[in-house]
This record gives sequence, C-alpha cells and structure tokens, in this order.
Amino acid sequence: MQMKMRLGLAIAFTGLLCGVALRSVAADRWGELGDLTRKLDAIAPTPMGDGHLGEVASGKCVQLRFPVPADEAVGYWLNLSCVVGYSGKGTRYQLLLRRDKEDGPVIHEGPVVVQGDEWNAANLVPIEITASLTAADRERGYIDIFVTGQVEGDGWTVYRHNAGRPIRASAAVLTAEVRQQMATAAALCERGVSVIPVPQQITLTGSDSFRVAAGSRILCPGQAPDSLKWAAEELQAMVRERTGLELAIAVVAAGDVRNGDIVLGTVKDRALISDRIGADPAGPEAYRLRIVADRAEVLGGAGPGCFYGAMTLGQMLRTDGAGAAAPCGEVNDAPSFPYRIIQYDIARGQTVNVEYVKRLIRELARCKINALLFYMEDDFRFRKYPFLGREGTFTHEKANELAEFARRYHMQLIPQFESLGHAGAVLGHDELKGLREKGGAWVFCTCEPGTWEFLDSVVGELVEAFPTTEFIHTGGDEFEMGFGVCEKCKAKGIGPLYAEHMNRLNQLVKKYGKTMMFWPSHSGPTPALSNMTIQYQALLEKDCIPTEWIYHGPATYPTIEEYQKLGFKDLYCSPAVESYSRLWPDHTTTVRGISGFYRAGAERKCGGAYCTTWEFMHGALIENSMYGLLYSAECAWNPRSTPRTDYDRRFADHWWGLTGGDVVARMQDTVFDPVPPSGPAAAWRSTWLPTKILWTDPANVMREWMLKQPAVGQNAGTLQPAMDAALERAKALSAAAKRNQLSFRSMTLAFRMLACADRKLTTFRDATAQYSDAVAAAPKDAPAAAAKLQAIDASLRDLAGEMKALAAEYQYFVANCGAYKGDVERLEKQAGQLTELADKLAGFAGKMKNGEAVQLPAGSTLGFPGGELVKLGDWAPAQMSTDMTEIRFDATKLLAGPCAFDLEWEYTKGAHGLSIKATRLSCDGTVVFEDVHDGWAGGGSHNHVYRLELKAYDPKAKYEITGEVASAGGTESAGTVWLIRQTRP
Ligand SMILES: [Zn+2]
Repeated sequence: MQMKMRLGLAIAFTGLLCGVALRSVAADRWGELGDLTRKLDAIAPTPMGDGHLGEVASGKCVQLRFPVPADEAVGYWLNLSCVVGYSGKGTRYQLLLRRDKEDGPVIHEGPVVVQGDEWNAANLVPIEITASLTAADRERGYIDIFVTGQVEGDGWTVYRHNAGRPIRASAAVLTAEVRQQMATAAALCERGVSVIPVPQQITLTGSDSFRVAAGSRILCPGQAPDSLKWAAEELQAMVRERTGLELAIAVVAAGDVRNGDIVLGTVKDRALISDRIGADPAGPEAYRLRIVADRAEVLGGAGPGCFYGAMTLGQMLRTDGAGAAAPCGEVNDAPSFPYRIIQYDIARGQTVNVEYVKRLIRELARCKINALLFYMEDDFRFRKYPFLGREGTFTHEKANELAEFARRYHMQLIPQFESLGHAGAVLGHDELKGLREKGGAWVFCTCEPGTWEFLDSVVGELVEAFPTTEFIHTGGDEFEMGFGVCEKCKAKGIGPLYAEHMNRLNQLVKKYGKTMMFWPSHSGPTPALSNMTIQYQALLEKDCIPTEWIYHGPATYPTIEEYQKLGFKDLYCSPAVESYSRLWPDHTTTVRGISGFYRAGAERKCGGAYCTTWEFMHGALIENSMYGLLYSAECAWNPRSTPRTDYDRRFADHWWGLTGGDVVARMQDTVFDPVPPSGPAAAWRSTWLPTKILWTDPANVMREWMLKQPAVGQNAGTLQPAMDAALERAKALSAAAKRNQLSFRSMTLAFRMLACADRKLTTFRDATAQYSDAVAAAPKDAPAAAAKLQAIDASLRDLAGEMKALAAEYQYFVANCGAYKGDVERLEKQAGQLTELADKLAGFAGKMKNGEAVQLPAGSTLGFPGGELVKLGDWAPAQMSTDMTEIRFDATKLLAGPCAFDLEWEYTKGAHGLSIKATRLSCDGTVVFEDVHDGWAGGGSHNHVYRLELKAYDPKAKYEITGEVASAGGTESAGTVWLIRQTRP
C-alpha cells in the first residue's frame, strides 16, 4: 500500500483488523471477524427441545444441520458448547466432525483432551470450518455436520437446540464497504497508529506529520485547574519514556503558541484551542484531538477527557531520526461505558506493594480505565479490629496514599469486602466466631446483631480509607452452601432471609453515601438456594448494582436484560482475565469472554464494564495478566472494535515498543498461545493441568498423574521442548523490547514453571522404572543396583536445583509485586523433599557399594509406585458417620496371589473430610494384615495411603478390605478407594 494514498474520509475503526494481520495469522480468526458475523441457529433435523440426548456411545454420530448464507463467507464457525462429556470421569476425549453423512469426510479433528471438564471447555471455542464450505452448500442453504466424541471411560451427549441453549453457527461475510474499511485500517496500521483503546473515530488527513522536537512545549491555559497540569505532566512523562525528549510544560496566553507546541484545554478552559477543532466533546470523558503539521491540540469535555486525549496523542507519537512525530489527523472519541473497572484480587496471601500498585494505576489509566477495585477477604488492617489484616496487606495509610495518587489519573479506588459468604478468612478469627452461621465459618449469620455492628464498622472504615470511591462492593457470591442454617435464620425462610441481608447491606452502604455493588447469586446446592437474586427479586431493594459474573465466554448474555427488567439501578458486566490459579492465562477464553460480554452490555446500555482477576496464587502472577487487562481497557472504551490481531499489534507496540511485520505472529505464539495448539504438546494447552502437577507433592506425582490419569502419562515429556522453544521466543522479544521488561521476566518464570511441571513427571516416571530395576538387581548384583540408585539420585538433585532456582526467582515477585510468598515456600519445600529423597537413595547406594546388605523399601513408600492402579470402590454420605465406623469393600476379584499393595483413600467431594484410623485386609472374615495409623482424606489430604500385604493366597477365600473411618463434622463426604497393585517386583 502506498504511504501517500488518500485517506480523506473519516473512517471509524469498526472492528476490523489490519489487513496485514489477517494474512499473518490464520488461527482463531473469530476475534478478528467477530463484528462481521451473523448468528445462525441450527435447524431440523438438529435435535430440538429441552435437556440433553442422554448418554451417547463413543464414536456414535449425532446429526446437526446449520444454515449457510448465499454470499461467500470469509469466516464460518460452529459453536459446539452443546457437546459435553457425559460423566466427566473419562480418561480421553476427542471431538470429530464429519460432513454430509456418518462416514463422510472428517472436517475437524479436535485435540485429545484427558479430562472431561477440559473437553467441555474446549468445545466452547467456536470451531472454524470455513475451508470446508462449498458452492453447493451455499446453493442448498445448509450443511449437515455429523458430530461424534471419541471418548474413553465415558459417554458423551448433546444439549438439544432450545431457547436457553441454542446450537449455533456464525458466518462472517465481507461486503464492499467492509473491504474499504479494512483497507483504511491497514493504512492506519502502516502509519504506525497504535492506540489502546482504539478511538471511536480516527481520521488521518494526508501524509504529513506533526513533529515534536526539543523546543516543543506542552501548554496549558492560564489559571489552569490541577487536572490539566496532571494531564500535561503525564504526557511529558510518556514522551520522555518513548522518545527521550524532555518537553517543557508552560502556562501561556493565547498569542504565545509556537510551532511544534502541544496545547491542552477543556470546554471551560479553551483559551489556547483553535475553533477548527470542531464541536465541544460530549461528556467529561470525551475529547477531540487535532493534529496538524505545526501543532497538536487536545480539547477535553472536562479534566478526564483532556487527560485521555493527551494519552492518545502520547501513544501516537513515535521516534524517528529527527525527533518524534505523529501523523496528522483528527480523533473524536468518548467511552462506551462510563465505569471501566479492573478488579485486583489481593486476597489469598498477596500483599499490597504500594509502588507496584502505583504502576498498575498509571498504566491502566493510560489506557483509560477509571476505577481499580480491590477484592479483599482478610486483607485490611481495620482500626477497630486490629487482629484482622494479614502482614503486608492494606492499611488506612496505604489506601489513602494510593487513592490520592490515583486521583491524578482520574481513577477511583473501590473496596470490596465479602459481607455474606466467602468470609472464611475473616470469620476464621476466634474473635469473630460469634458472627458465624451455625455449622461453619464461611457465611455470616444474618440474625446475629453482632454481624451488623461489625459490617457497619467495616464499611465505615473502608469509606474513610478509600475516600474517592462512589461504591462499596459487598461481595455476595458463593455463599449458598451454609446459608440460613441456625434456628433463627431458618425460621425466616430462605428468600426473605436473603432479601433481609442484602437490603440491610444496601441501607448500610447508602448510610455512608455510597452505592452498593454486589455479586448476584448463582448456582447453589438446592433449587431454593440457587439464583437467589432473581428468584427472590420481589423482596430486594433495587437501588444497587448487581455485577453479573460470566467468565467462559458464551454466545449470548440473556441475564443482562433479565436484571434490567427487574429494575435494578444498573447492571455491570463482569468477565475475567482467566489467569486465576494457573501458571499462564487462558487468553482464548479471556478475549472471547471480555469482547462478547462488553458488546452485549454496550448494546443494552449497561453503565459498567468490570473485568475481574482472581487468585494470584499457585504460581499465577498479575503481571502475566497485563495483556488481558489492557484488552479489557480496549473493549470497555470501545467494545465495537475488538479485532484481536490488530489489538496484538497495538499491544506489542504500546506495551513493549515492539513493531515490525511479524510482531502479530510472534504475539500469537509467545503471549497468546505459548503452548502450540497442535502437535505433541497440544494436550497441555490448558495450563490448569501442569499447574496442578507443579504443586503436587513429589511423593504423590506418580500416583496422582501417571497412574490415575494414564493419558497424562502418555504426554509426559512433550511440554518441556515446547516451553524451551517459547522461552527462546520470549527472549528474542525481550531483547527487542523498549519497555516493561518486568512482563518478560514474569513470563519467563511462568514458562520455566510449566517446563518444570513436565520435568517432574518424566523424572519420576524414569526414576520409578530405575528403582524397580534396582530392587530386582539388588539381591544378586549390588553394584548394578547402586548405579541405578545413583542415577535416580542425580536426577532428583537436578529437579531440586530447578525448584530452588524457581523459588529464588519467585521471591523477586514477592518482594516487588506483592506476589504470594507461600508459593516460594512451597517450591522450597518441594526442593527439600526431593533432596531428602535423593539423600536417602544415596545412603542406600553407599551401603551397597560398601558391601552391606540393604533391604530396599517398597517403591511406593518413596514416591515410585511402579504398578497398576485399580479402583476398589467408592464411599458415599449414606455410609458415613461422625463416630468411628467400619466400611467394607469386596477385594476378592482384585487379588490373584500373594502380593503387597498400597491403598489410597481419595476424597472427591462433600463438605466433610474422612478421618481414617486403620485399614485391614481380611480373609473369610479373619484379619490377615492391617496398617494402623491416623490418616486424613479431605482438604489437604495426608497419610491417607495404607500398605497391605497378602502373604498366603487362597483362591477359594473371600477377601475383604475394611476401613475404620469417621467423617468429620457431618456426613457429607464422598470419595474413591484405590489399590495400587505392583506389576513388577
Ligand atoms: Zn443464623
């Protein structure tokens, strides 16, 4: 494209990608073409009506029929979130699509997934089949898809096409107008316009540029309010960071503007602004930006608008040989959502690092976010309750300092304090035990007067600590289990009790002059305890704001309208950056969830776009969420315009100063999807799995992952090379980047942790085989056995060293970014466990070399359970008692000769864990072996593996295994009992 092509017409970015980007990235074009798509509901003979089809066998097909538009589609996707695993308990899942008939050609082969939930989640991603459409399909008007699940250990099913859950395709068709807009977008891309969020309207006028040189100044009118000076100072800082130029800030009169100056003003103070800038911006956050060859002018509706205009100009300026320049043009811009909120979860062990939070405030404000909301549990040092607030977390002083700092950036800081459920960290303190609802420490008792005295003080102190907030978010999610249990509460009835609680909170927040935000109730343990906000809405006060939380990125958002019709003051849309408790964010879901929810919310004129982050623990670092957080900033300002690959280009430029033809592709395979979506490592694409493996105690790695989930074992070793390659790519990007190296440092740590998780698997897999060899060799060839042990010893020490190095690097983020220090301790603990194990093996090897007789212990006692895992049975609430009781399992069919085996009590669900005293093996009613020790199967299971031996086998006898167990605190306990049979000596 010619640089000098005429771009006279004002062309809005209407959700189109840069044409360059379209060609460079074929995968996941959904995000790019989202705005062009039309939704197409499936038609008969697609199964219709409520519910699902029941269990469908592996390999069997279900026919779905989708409309096909007559125009040629540039994108055609199927949304098959209706296809799910039947029980979720299988070991292998894969989706296959054929066209036309049951044995027709396969047009899509999904990745092999080892867990039901992951499969279901993967099916939420629209599947592109554009290339499979033919002219005949267009002529006929539909395509038949035969969908099947290749499933092991489970069935699968299809949710029928119905009002609540339509089965859909989406088609994007390029019109001539759209093609023209795409060409213009490409031209803007070529001129290097990289603004986040992308303005509502941007026009380039000709090929000239406005040049900034050393003598250029940033000018404010005389008597300028503070807000204009703040905008000038932040623009000055941005120019300094990006171009190295130090611009002066000056207060001048109208006649004193010189060539090369940048002029700021607002509708009220527009002395320096020329009339040619056009009509006044509509609203305080709106602005107009006019860039001509000899000056740049920013006119804000008020202070915030001027600040945002200055930030747009700052992002448009780029260095060249002679200074810095921005292309001449005009921007007319205003936000779609008045409240653009980011939630920072500082609970779960994080601390508040004031300097790091200041950086977040500044960077988010530069992208036009205007509220930062802190999610808190036991994370504030209240004056009246000095026992609350962990070390390093919020204090009045920190909150005041940050609120004052954020004021310069037109950003309010909002506190959230869980005031119904999710209160375990607070109610766990003995000083507050009187406020707990009967039977637990998770929910407040509504009928306890102390509850209201406490919450009143809490809200009062939070209002004081966060003086700029208009809101108090009172939480209100995930309380349903354990709500309304005591006699007084029960007597009121669940609906009235819920309404009483929420209404009292609302009154309390209003008393302090604020508006209440709250999480609406979602699913609970019973229908009466589910969706309570909607169910009991008639009893609720409505002058408060439900913040609806939907994270998985569905095709439609019907609850927006539902809450609006109920008459609530407003409804804020709350998607998430899917980074919680995982080493690397799921960007596919993040992008789909944010763009879809905000578009739906903007269509219904919602006032708030409120993106959450959660659970920065288990190796998750907020710094790795910046891509998602700025994407939220983008869509909250301008949700029509979310072309993902163009966003990638702009993010790379804005955040890192990275430009160039291949930058979009490099963002794709390094940031967006560091684990390749196809090839041997694809099974690890969801980083849940390696995150869980990284945090599994070394002693349990083999049993939990290699034996219980053989499909995971099959993929062991494939993630390491993928992450090594990703680390190389990250290093190359980092070397070229001009700013925000911290993000590369946290990315590098994440990739190293992912690789380490896989290394743990292969280390223990190999060690288990070697140990088995050592045990077999020991009686006759002690040197050979000793050599095997030494090899294991060395590999364990390598892994321990790696864990120690990760802990040291993680410590940097603890010290500088408020990361959870418990994660460092856990990495160090694992390193210690590995070293201890290595020492033990070295001890055996040493003795063997000295010719001493060594009886090697069973592999399973060391974490090398070489064997086969079989299920003995399940336990369920009906068998449970809070007193010690015996439960029995018939093991006759599982035993075929003398053997030794391990038995594991694995808790799976329920509110109560299992306390175990002993596990026994009996032959025709007589105990032949027992292992008596205290074990616990529940949250934080420990000592829950028992070792049993059958010395003499009688093929005619009946063998039973019994456990002496009690469920703790109640009988809601369920789990599985596993046998690990040794297959090798
Ligand atoms: Zn109660």
